Amino acid sequence: MESRASDPPSPTSASPSRSPSPLRQHISSPPRIRRLEASVVNRIAAGEVIQRPSAAVKELVENSLDAASTSVSLSVKDGGLKLLLVSDDGHGIRHEDLPILCERHTTSKLSKYEDLQTIKSMGFRGEALASMTYVGHVTVTTITEGQLHGYRVSYRDGVMEHEPKPCAAVKGTQIMVENLFYNMSARRKTLQNSNDDYPKIVDLISRFAVHYMNVNFSCRKHGSNRADVHTVGGSSRLDAIRTVYGASVARDLMEISISDDNPTRSIFKMEGFISNSNYLAKKTTMILFINDRLVDCTALKRAVELVYSATLPKASKPFIYMSINLPSDHVDVNIHPTKREVSLLNQDSLIDTIQSAIEAKLMSSNSTRIFQTQVVSSSLPTTQISTRKDKEHSIANSGVQSQKVPVNQMVRTDSRDPFGRLHSYWKDGSQSSKQEKKSDLASMRSVVVARRNWKENIDFTSLDQLVREIDSNVHPGLLDIVKDCTYIGLADEVFAVLQYNTYLYLVNVVNVSKELMYQQVLRRFSKFNAIQLSEPAPLQDLLLMALRDEELETRGDETETNDDLKEKIAQMNIELLREKEDMLEDYFGIKMEDGSLIRLPVILDQYIPDMDRIPEFLLSLANDVDWDDERECFQTVSAVLANFYAMHPPILPNPSGDGIHYYRKNREEVGFEAEILVDKSDEEQVDEELVAEAETAWSQREWNIQHVLFPSMRLFLKPPKCMATDGTFVQVASLEKLYRVFERC
Ligand code: ADP
Ligand code: MG
Repeated sequence: MESRASDPPSPTSASPSRSPSPLRQHISSPPRIRRLEASVVNRIAAGEVIQRPSAAVKELVENSLDAASTSVSLSVKDGGLKLLLVSDDGHGIRHEDLPILCERHTTSKLSKYEDLQTIKSMGFRGEALASMTYVGHVTVTTITEGQLHGYRVSYRDGVMEHEPKPCAAVKGTQIMVENLFYNMSARRKTLQNSNDDYPKIVDLISRFAVHYMNVNFSCRKHGSNRADVHTVGGSSRLDAIRTVYGASVARDLMEISISDDNPTRSIFKMEGFISNSNYLAKKTTMILFINDRLVDCTALKRAVELVYSATLPKASKPFIYMSINLPSDHVDVNIHPTKREVSLLNQDSLIDTIQSAIEAKLMSSNSTRIFQTQVVSSSLPTTQISTRKDKEHSIANSGVQSQKVPVNQMVRTDSRDPFGRLHSYWKDGSQSSKQEKKSDLASMRSVVVARRNWKENIDFTSLDQLVREIDSNVHPGLLDIVKDCTYIGLADEVFAVLQYNTYLYLVNVVNVSKELMYQQVLRRFSKFNAIQLSEPAPLQDLLLMALRDEELETRGDETETNDDLKEKIAQMNIELLREKEDMLEDYFGIKMEDGSLIRLPVILDQYIPDMDRIPEFLLSLANDVDWDDERECFQTVSAVLANFYAMHPPILPNPSGDGIHYYRKNREEVGFEAEILVDKSDEEQVDEELVAEAETAWSQREWNIQHVLFPSMRLFLKPPKCMATDGTFVQVASLEKLYRVFERC
């Protein structure tokens, strides 16, 4: 059986020569175009509108809300595949409309195209009920006001299966959908195999319940007497959130409302609740209603997440409930068959305004609590980072306390290799960020007090001053550029090109990233997440490495000061750092213990600094910081950190182009002088592994510049005045002028 592929075709097999397919047969003439049968068309279209049971629920609930119901209840069997039953107390459906109720494009909500501009109801396409009848069995029971009895009728493929039968009925409409996708076996199978849709349905009803707080919602599994969502209308918004999402969520929310009525930007009103810095969750919950429609807006969601990740130290995703209202002619509701998305006029500036408002709200709420509750850094979540090489290390180390790996095995200190690599210190990762156990607040406090005696008198006014200095030193013109620029690409190793209006600018990536890091260090002061090193990195070795590098740079490679002296200098530096250990840990998230570096702070989320710069960083920490004056001290430590985290070109030379000669193997063997003699044919003899590493480093940096630096810069950088004149921003061209030049050609 295994050799099936090479078996000769059996007489019954559909080999092209024996029984050609109709397409193959007429390969030279174009295939005929036929009209699909209406039932096929309808079923295809229906599968699009009703993609899964939760999509049917959304349509049904929206219909109930459009019918002015004050109570909507739901019963679900088998994740909605077996049964969906939605009952409401709305205005019901007229007897005379029942025959066309489930035909495609029959609606009571829209009569001419222009109505779409002002439409307030959620439905308007007249497709939902029809679609359900093409992929399931639909039975409607309804009664209108003033009638003595109701009617019940079942539908298949858009038409009534029989005349409506009179029946007893309570106010409103009941729609039952059975055996969804009975005639779409592939869909049914994937849905049966995938997770049950019930959680999605509960989630959906929860969202409606928060927004339509005057409507009673309930949702339960068929036959169960316990409802999974149950709200009683008439409560406040916060009560509704508490009922649905629990007290622990409601407790950590802040109310937010903003509006904009500047026609050149955007006109809208937004009201909502957003989580504060105490809220902890792994996934974002974003409940978004635009003009009372439950919609998704990925751009807005991402924008909000970005504000949270950059403003708050905890690696928590936010909870957002947001209701946005804008003039109905600014919203196009008809861009998606399921109406799940809408498109907005001036979406970008609307998102910008919302972002800034959330940022301001978080900042103000955050700054009031920073200094009241002192956080012990050891209770902060730690982010672990991984690189491929270190898997072995941590596997080896996961058992009994590991033997110490000799430093020369972890760090390439080989003097023939000019680039000391520190990657071995990186933590292996299951990517999961472990959260160390939080001790209770009281014991935490006493630890803090015990450890912090030395700084009893510090009152953070100096920190405030530094932050205020940033604000008062902003260059307004550059701020506009930074906020609204478009990233074009890298011009060389240091400059990126960006466009603002019709101007092109070169911007020095190292300078802006350094400034951004500096500002973020001050903003995150004392509440950093941690980057954990997989192995404690011995300060002594790192400092010695830095001292050697420094010597190479300043004196050339012949004259070496003796190693004893260097060791003494390193030792002095270590002692100095040890004295400042507590302060560096508590305020800056730099943790050192027993003469080793253990943790570094997260300054921009998702960003890990170039570990090759650790030696230089430590040396600079010991030598370039002013420890005497509090303000100076905060400033200089922040600057040293900023320099370490800035997006410098990687230490490994760029292997593309000329840079490749650094990686020739012969270089080490034949000596430096002989290098020029190496002819082109030897070019393949490069250290492939190192080249690959360098390539990764360079492309990683480019990615970081585009995806981490620029988005965060737009949000958080307050460019200082000096950047306008020190070559950080240079205007290179005005597109208008360029066009004029082209016109003359
Ligand atoms: P649409 O909502 O786009 O109009 P639907 O197929 O969802 O299209 O519904 C068709 C029509 O059926 C609606 O326009 C409405 O008049 C009526 N209808 C559906 N559900 C209900 C309900 N629960 N209560 C009252 N009328 C309803
Ligand atoms: Mg509808």
